[in-house]
Amino acid sequence: MSLLDRDRACLWHPYTQALTQPPPLPVVRAEGVYLYTEDGRRILDGISSWWVNIHGHSHPKLNAALAAQARELEQVVFAGCTHRPAVELAERLLQLLPPGLTRIFYSDNGSTAVEVALKIACQYWRNLGQPQRQRFVTLHHAYHGDTVGAMSASEDSLFTRAFAALLFPVARAHAPYCYRCPMGLTRATCQIDCLGDLERQLQEGGDSIAGVLIEPMLQAAGGMIVWPAEFLAGARRLSDRYGTLLIADEVLTGFGRTGRMFACEHAAIRPDLVCLSKALTAGYLPMGATAATETLYEAFLSEDRGKTFFHGHSYTANPLACAVGLASLDLFRENGVLERVQALERQLRAGLEPLRGLAGVGDVRTIGGVGIVELESESAGYLDQLGPRLAAAFLERGLLLRPLGNVLYFMPPYAITEGEVGWVLTQISEVLASI
Ligand code: PLP
Repeated sequence: MSLLDRDRACLWHPYTQALTQPPPLPVVRAEGVYLYTEDGRRILDGISSWWVNIHGHSHPKLNAALAAQARELEQVVFAGCTHRPAVELAERLLQLLPPGLTRIFYSDNGSTAVEVALKIACQYWRNLGQPQRQRFVTLHHAYHGDTVGAMSASEDSLFTRAFAALLFPVARAHAPYCYRCPMGLTRATCQIDCLGDLERQLQEGGDSIAGVLIEPMLQAAGGMIVWPAEFLAGARRLSDRYGTLLIADEVLTGFGRTGRMFACEHAAIRPDLVCLSKALTAGYLPMGATAATETLYEAFLSEDRGKTFFHGHSYTANPLACAVGLASLDLFRENGVLERVQALERQLRAGLEPLRGLAGVGDVRTIGGVGIVELESESAGYLDQLGPRLAAAFLERGLLLRPLGNVLYFMPPYAITEGEVGWVLTQISEVLASI
């Protein structure tokens, strides 16, 4: 029996409606930027396996780090124990993150990194004697994950609607979605007027606001929206002005994706909490990390056990994941990875900008290692039928892309070569010209 037949009999896949969608790709092996299927196809991974893979699949150095760590210590409880990979990874992350972040709290994935940040923020205020600060301001088009807290903070959408009864209320402010400006303005002449809505929410929320949660510079699943850096700077300024916390969800943007190690660097800001995951382990193992300032950490130091942060997962700080994370950071240094992402950005911009001239192309956006083409569409949503049609056309050509409805994006592992990017750009222009 083929892998696909066995899959059909026992599996339930994320985001997939088995009755109407194509069967999953039966992947048996992966190397570099390529996936190899049971039926003999070689497919270029144009989405870094859901945005996690950065150095390429089955990287010899990461494989070796994983194997070496497995021989030494594969897992140990992290409540009451510690180990070298967890300490070293925390030290290295804190050296790389904006100065002033001094503590790392490990968890399991992007959603839990966000849950941890929301819970720390909420309890921080409680520990300080301000328990009324429990409400968060988040942005329209936000996506922070699929667990209940992360869904609450995300945009009200197809992804969250079935669970509305479980979600806690948040205040939502405009995002700087310049192509579909919420103020009806144009970027060339606006003064980032959309920030006014965030200020209004902070004013109205007053001392009920625990924090502002943002995806800095690139709102991803909500439509690959690239920000002007001024909005990010403004979010920090306003959080300070209204005395609340700024939480940066860098689950996708962290580790070079926007051309800087962390997206917050584009506006030289330091958030109070930063959520990390995805490329943290270069796409090898599930792990989340939430970085916090010393002020936040200190609010939990008390002999009163009611002030303890009672949150922990079985695999918190898993040594295998930490070891791969450390080896991935070594690769950044050894291989000039950030420079590679910057070169990738230049190539993507040069290749995609001319597509603005094509019929049906609404907007072209590029940031770091992400190239985006938003197609004109009435529905402009995740269920837009353009998405599956485009995905099928690219797959025929040996390229894995998963458009978000009418938003086509290319986000490859940074290890991709110039020649391979050139090939992908040709596929994109040919397919777009033919639809
Ligand atoms: N935050 C952001 C910005 C994301 O893009 C994602 C996933 O795409 C998440 C959180 C959730 O991460 P995970 O899927 O690992 O739970």
